[in-house]
Formats: sequence, structure tokens, C-alpha cells
Amino acid sequence: MRTQVAIIGAGPAGLLLGRLLERTGIANVILERRSPDYVLSRIRAGVLEHGARDLLNQAGVGARMEAEGLAHHGVAIAFHGAQHRIDFHALIGREVMVYGQTEITHDLMDARTASGGGTIYDAEDVTPVDFDTPHPHLTWRKDGRTHRLDSDFIAGCDGFHGVSRASVPAAAVRNFERVYPFGWLGVLVDRPPVSDELIYAAHDRGFALCSMRSRTRSRYYVQCEADADPANWSATAFWDELRRRLPAAAAEALQTGQSIEKSVAPLRSFVAEPMRFGRLFLAGDAAHIVPPTGAKGLNLAIGDVARLAGALSEHYTERSDAGLDAYSVQALARVWQAERFSWWMPTMLPRFPDLPGFEQRMQAAEFAALVGSRAAQQAMSEIYTGLPMASAESGRVVSRR
Ligand SMILES: Cc1cc2nc3c(=O)[nH]c(=O)nc-3n(C[C@H](O)[C@H](O)[C@H](O)COP(=O)(O)OP(=O)(O)OC[C@H]3O[C@@H](n4cnc5c(N)ncnc54)[C@H](O)[C@@H]3O)c2cc1C
Repeated sequence: MRTQVAIIGAGPAGLLLGRLLERTGIANVILERRSPDYVLSRIRAGVLEHGARDLLNQAGVGARMEAEGLAHHGVAIAFHGAQHRIDFHALIGREVMVYGQTEITHDLMDARTASGGGTIYDAEDVTPVDFDTPHPHLTWRKDGRTHRLDSDFIAGCDGFHGVSRASVPAAAVRNFERVYPFGWLGVLVDRPPVSDELIYAAHDRGFALCSMRSRTRSRYYVQCEADADPANWSATAFWDELRRRLPAAAAEALQTGQSIEKSVAPLRSFVAEPMRFGRLFLAGDAAHIVPPTGAKGLNLAIGDVARLAGALSEHYTERSDAGLDAYSVQALARVWQAERFSWWMPTMLPRFPDLPGFEQRMQAAEFAALVGSRAAQQAMSEIYTGLPMASAESGRVVSRR
């Protein structure tokens, strides 16, 4: 088998890259180690930056998002009882879109099925080979046989635990990492959200977040021990703890119910540099992880593949490798800004175990600096709603609404 771009991973990064390449006439095949049902069963992100929304629309997969998604003009931050609204729309004229990652994955899979794009699910032992030569290829096993796919390029969109980054010689990659001393216990429930907008709440007992996936499905988090076992948290214990950490009005309005998903996410910041190794390009969680506090992981994956698709299109249509050569440096510049923001949010909001008095005062001073300054709120709004994203067609910046 031969294609132009071999993509490893059918998460949002791989599926969107496949879609963007398809629309510029670049042949591609996606290899995924799981089944489609397994991929669709993952409950993850839900907040889209304005540029991610634009890109999904440009890719022709935004119709359901526009019909069913919820445009949010701001978020609330509660700090030990005091609540403040960051009004993105009034501050910088922008908004974010609440639409579940699972739904985006669904829309991308449907579009790929309709266009006849090749996706090979249940591919075992996918291995990128010779990516530092002009003849990269992938091998994998399926139905008891070994297969091979030759390509011009390989896109490693296989998430944090994927094979792409792991295939790079250790000396060629530098990892930057921070693991936070707590986790997030998340519960998904089919009940209307407690508020029309997200509430980030800092409390002496720990951080809490009220998020949502739709008008009838809510996502709630409480900060917990990093190694907490979700099975040890009864429904009553979770809802009681959440109520304690929320401002009184929100606690009273909270509608509880049977959880349809409950899990503990460890909080980690991670970046691998560079994001290119010969003809292998990393995108999304394969190259970087952010704590979910800033809602940036999915958006970063979308930003990477927009840039990569633009660079590959430049290679094939304009015979220029300028975009591919600049990919790693330019993608990383954006990644580090999101890393900074996603590190700052958990630095300001959660209760760190044994946080010394000075740092506690610093957290309070951070909050005061934010709510006391329109400029600080504008800066937060800019990054929350999303830094400019590269065009999927040329590498130019297009998303600056
Ligand atoms: C609980 C939770 C909440 C989150 N909340 C948010 C949020 O609110 N906002 C936000 O922006 N982000 C959030 N994120 C992060 C977001 O979900 C990820 O950043 C996003 O899924 C990254 O997409 P990806 O395609 O790069 O990787 P993934 O979604 O991990 O997809 C990688 C794909 O590659 C496949 N794969 C892996 N290894 C191989 C292999 N060897 N061979 C073939 N295929 C392979 C996997 O099966 C998977 O389908 C959250 C994450 C979690 C866990």
C-alpha cells in the first residue's frame, strides 16, 4: 500500500488532519489501534476556542456543532466565596463554544465514511519505520498478518501514550514535565448545568469546576488526591464535596443524578521538543499535555493539525518546504503559551497540599490582580478564547476575529 501521508491515531488530531488533507487533495490513510466504538466511548474535552470552531466549520464538519453547541460569552471564577465573571465578549468581543469532543469525533468519523477516506481500525503494533530517510513507512498487524504502508510523511497523532514519540531515539527529543500533586475527580451526569456558564471555584477544601457538554449534560470536577480511586468516592460524597466548594447560589441550584462516567485525571504539564523528526511529525497529545483546567488540550491538537495540514499543502501544491521546516518551532511557540496559561490556572486556583502561607497569599493576590484589572482580564480572555490559529491551507494566520 502507498499513500502521501500516513496518520497514526484516529483521535481528534488524526481525524481532523485526515479531513483537512482530503480537502486539499492529499491522499492519506489513518491507522488506529482501537475500534471505532472504543474511540467514541472516550469522554473528554468540551470547550472549543473560537479558532477551533472556525476551523471545524472550514473543514465542513461544523454543522451539528453550530446547531447543538452552546456559545459562551464568559466564565465565572469564585475565590473563597467571592465570585467574579470574566466577560470575554465585553472585554475582547469573543466567545468559546461548548461542544463535546466525542461529538466532534463522531462528526469527523461520519465525514470520513461519507468521503470514503481510508481508516484502518484495530491495527496492532503500528510501527513507524525509516522516518529519518526519504522512504518512511508503517507496519502493523491485523487479522493475523503483517501489513506495510509506504508514504511520503508520517503524522504521529497517537496521543500521550502512542508509539510515535516513543519511536524517536531518546537523544533526539527533550521532554519538559511538571506533575501536579493532586488529581481531578470528574463526573458526567445527565442533568442540566448548574449555571449557563462554567464556574471555576477555589475553596479551602480544594478546587471545583462546573462545566457542561450540552443543556442537559453536565460535567463536574473536584480536586482530589492524585492517586484517588474513583470507586472510593460514593455519589453522595462527591455531590456533598462539590456543594461545599461552590458559591452558595450555585450549591443550591445544583441538580445531582446518577453519573454516566466517573474518573480521576492526573494533572500534568508536558512538552516534547522538537515536534518533527525527519519525515515524522508529532501533533496533539503525542507532543504535549496540559492540565485540563485551561481547556486547552483539544484546542492545541486542532491548532497543530491546522498548521501541519497547511505546511503539507504548501509542500504538495507550491513545492515549498518552508512550512514543514518551520512547523516545530511555530507549533511549539503556540503550545508554550497554552502551557503557560494551563499552568497558571492550577497555580492560582487549587489548594496545594501543605501550601506555605506565603504562597497562599500569592494565590489570593493573583485573584485580586485579575479581578482588579480590566487589562489582566483582557489578557486572560485572549488566551482562554484562543490565540491565533494557522490556516489549514497555507500556514498563514487567519483566525483573529
Ligand atoms: C478527563 C479529560 C478531560 C479533558 N478536558 C479537556 C477540555 O475541557 N478541553 C480540552 O481542550 N482538552 C481536554 N482534554 C484533553 C483532550 O481530550 C486531548 O488533548 C485530546 O484528546 C487530544 O487529541 P489527540 O487526537 O491528540 O489525542 P487522543 O485523543 O489521545 O487520540 C489519540 C488516538 O491515537 C490512538 N493510538 C494511540 N496509540 C496508538 C498506536 N500505537 N497505534 C495506533 N493508534 C494509536 C488512540 O487510541 C487514540 O484514538 C481532556 C482530557 C481528559 C483525559
